[in-house]
Amino acid sequence: MHRRLTTPGALAAASLLLAIPASAASHSPGAPGIGDPYYPAYGNGGYDVSHYDLRLKYQPANDRLEGTATLLARTTQDLSRFNLDFLLDVSEVRVNGAKARFATSGQHELQVTPSKPLAKGTSVTVVVRYSGVPSSEQAYGFTSWLRTPDGGVAAGEPESAWWWFPSNDHPLDKATYDISVQVPDGTQAISNGTLQSTSSRAGWTRYSWRSNKPQATYLATLAVGKFDVTTATTDSGIPVINAYSKDLGDIAGAARASVERTGEIADWLTDYFGPYPYNALGGYVPNTTTGYALETQTRPFYSPRQFANGSNTSVVVHELAHQWYGDLVSVSQWKDIWVNEGFARYAQWLWSEYEGEGTAQEIADYVYASRPADDPFWTVRPGDPGPENQFHLAVYDRGALALQALRNAIGDEDFFAVLKGWPRKYAHGNASVADFRKYAERVSGKRLTALFDTWLFQPSKPGAPAAREASISARALGTKGAPEQPKSWKKIAATNGVHDHEHGHAE
Ligand SMILES: [Zn+2]
Repeated sequence: MHRRLTTPGALAAASLLLAIPASAASHSPGAPGIGDPYYPAYGNGGYDVSHYDLRLKYQPANDRLEGTATLLARTTQDLSRFNLDFLLDVSEVRVNGAKARFATSGQHELQVTPSKPLAKGTSVTVVVRYSGVPSSEQAYGFTSWLRTPDGGVAAGEPESAWWWFPSNDHPLDKATYDISVQVPDGTQAISNGTLQSTSSRAGWTRYSWRSNKPQATYLATLAVGKFDVTTATTDSGIPVINAYSKDLGDIAGAARASVERTGEIADWLTDYFGPYPYNALGGYVPNTTTGYALETQTRPFYSPRQFANGSNTSVVVHELAHQWYGDLVSVSQWKDIWVNEGFARYAQWLWSEYEGEGTAQEIADYVYASRPADDPFWTVRPGDPGPENQFHLAVYDRGALALQALRNAIGDEDFFAVLKGWPRKYAHGNASVADFRKYAERVSGKRLTALFDTWLFQPSKPGAPAAREASISARALGTKGAPEQPKSWKKIAATNGVHDHEHGHAE
């Protein structure tokens, strides 16, 4: 009797003991990184975000940002805990409506423990309330938040999100965005996509932007300041919104003479890359002291310095080319950066050809001839340059040279079919250098392993036989043996370091 009474209890206790550890054992913490060998802590494991809703308030006078981020995600494993990448101060996190515990770790990790573990393959809503002064926050000793006299700007690669919204910060996790920002009357908030509405109340104006196609976190941008805004519509019907700081001084004319050609240049690029993939276009030039430009989705960021010596449409070509090569099709891992930069640079060469300032072949010949074999330029492998050389000039110039070699190897018809077909094949997704080689092989019916190895992966200058085989020659050598510089060279070179960082990730 005694036994009979205790046995069921013991059984129940045993089954509970079995049930709890079994359940806990199947739920594990999401990885603190998404698995990128260049940046092991970037992004996170265990979930995939489909939408970010950012409702923010920013005060330019003291650089204070506060807001609420609502993330819609889906779990990809049974999760006991997961990370977000973020630097500002968090006051509350809710997961599926319930308060979650949170803690910071590493350089930029926000560790979130939901009140109940999350099952794999389920929808999760994460709400993060936060505030802070972005310019005062650093990770790895730098900040990507750019302070201006009249506000602030978020634009950086590969990292810029940590300073203004919590995210799964890696191109592998793209999402749509609603970004709504309240700023003092007389100040504008510029972001990606279409301007859905503006409204004013009690001295504050709210700007609500929408990016309705998948967008990588580093391609989300925010600029608050006093801007002159222009609007237009392209021949193909895409609305264009451009913004220029009111404080650009002497470069204001050159900036506008360049960025106002956005619609024309985007239409021109469709001949090479296919239809423009988004429902909005534009560009903005805030009054930063930086030197780079960035392909922030639908609305690239341009530093004033890009126009210091006059108008430069070449940089506009570069950033708009990224809308297909970089934004529509993004890197799988950061080592695939050539798939972005080689092509954006090659688009500049095609523009030079269109403008009658030197053909792509002439520029390729010049790059090859003007750099001797012992130039360290050739030691950088554009196909896998390493994080320290991710934005090295070789990724751009040798990267575009590799495309000219490919063009000569497979012929114009197949080459331009590849350029146009690739963005469609991987639209709104990610792809690698190897994916590109395989795609070019399929279109051309040629084996291209050796050509890719020579031009993208060897840490040395391709020799004369390889150059002859790819019809890259020393033709550019003038009568005195000095290479002749194509007319467009200086304009293109003025866009070098378009992704230069202040913090030393780039050359
Ligand atoms: Zn670029």
